[in-house]
Amino acid sequence: VATFRFPADELRGVGASVFAAAGSEEREATLIAKRLVDANLAGHDSHGVIRVPRYIRDLASGGVAANRHATVVKETGALVVVDGNNGFGQVVGGEAMAIGIAAAKKNGACILVLRHSAHLGRIADWAEMAADEGLASFHFVNVSGRGANRVAPFGGTDGRLSTNPIAAAIPRRGGAPVVLDMATSVVAEGKIAVARNRGVETPEGWLIDSDGRPTRDPRKLYEKPPGAILPFGAYKGYGLGLFVDLISGALTGAGGITHKHAIEARVENNMVAMIVDPAAMGGVKAFDAEVEAILAYVTGSKPSGKEAVMLPGDPERRTRAERLEHGIPLEEETWRQIVEAAESVGVTLQERRG
Ligand code: NAD
Repeated sequence: VATFRFPADELRGVGASVFAAAGSEEREATLIAKRLVDANLAGHDSHGVIRVPRYIRDLASGGVAANRHATVVKETGALVVVDGNNGFGQVVGGEAMAIGIAAAKKNGACILVLRHSAHLGRIADWAEMAADEGLASFHFVNVSGRGANRVAPFGGTDGRLSTNPIAAAIPRRGGAPVVLDMATSVVAEGKIAVARNRGVETPEGWLIDSDGRPTRDPRKLYEKPPGAILPFGAYKGYGLGLFVDLISGALTGAGGITHKHAIEARVENNMVAMIVDPAAMGGVKAFDAEVEAILAYVTGSKPSGKEAVMLPGDPERRTRAERLEHGIPLEEETWRQIVEAAESVGVTLQERRG
């Protein structure tokens, strides 16, 4: 499959012009494009500009609404509940986090609930936002609505859970934070869509077909009846994914995997974030020293292969540096889908790039 390299700036421009033409105010259009391209730069193409056609379809069907903002529903000391009003996650996610960060600084900690957001993208974005302010955070995000049931429970044969990601970041003195950001399925669903667009097989252990048999064909996930993605780490990933739905779907009152939205096409992300100020715990100095001691000890393990032990977040930083220099690879099929989506809102893009 042909792959083209695009400079990040060019893709940001494409995204911004498409979302502006689709009805987003300039700030929103720019923000959506920035977050999508950031995901490509991090190497998570599943959450990059491949989403443009989906978002445009969701706008048309009412699955997401343009120019909405987060509103505070409840603030009781350390608990802050925010409604995303079905706005773009790239916008309401940032607004909710800003509210949660302020509350954590004031109270020492905050349990932030963001309900009814459209796709929140790469959850690391929100953890990094807190880390930039010197705060540690843990995030649990569920998905409800159309086709969210993509992940088979351990021991089951069809999709009954979503990819329910978790993320966490720990700020580091004078350096980039440690950032863990992962689906509780073997991989995020979008990675199966990327494999399908690339026309490649997925690795063993990622997928089952609609009869519950192992398959390496990414198309099986999207057939009718659909196949399913497996949880990571067998019953442990299943258990974690289940708890994400119980916490972010049930505990918040936002709705979990069985929730039916009034608009059938709607897909929601609901996030529970625990944001903690190290200053309110054991003090920043002790925290910084302990973090560095732990990280140095863990990464000091003799490498099993050629590479030194990495920290969560290191692979994304490395890919970002490489892609900023050499461009973001997009397969021909993904570019074609973006061109088509752009056309549907009256924006003409070049058919092909060499
Ligand atoms: P993944 O399987 O690539 O795992 C990523 C995590 O593993 C990162 O924290 C990365 O730094 C770490 N990692 C990878 N290799 C490492 C190594 N050698 N040493 C140390 N750490 C390493 O990613 P995924 O599970 O497919 O998730 C991809 C993205 O999808 C994430 O950004 C997630 O937030 C996003 N997602 C979003 C939603 C949503 O509904 N919004 C749903 C699912 C996933």
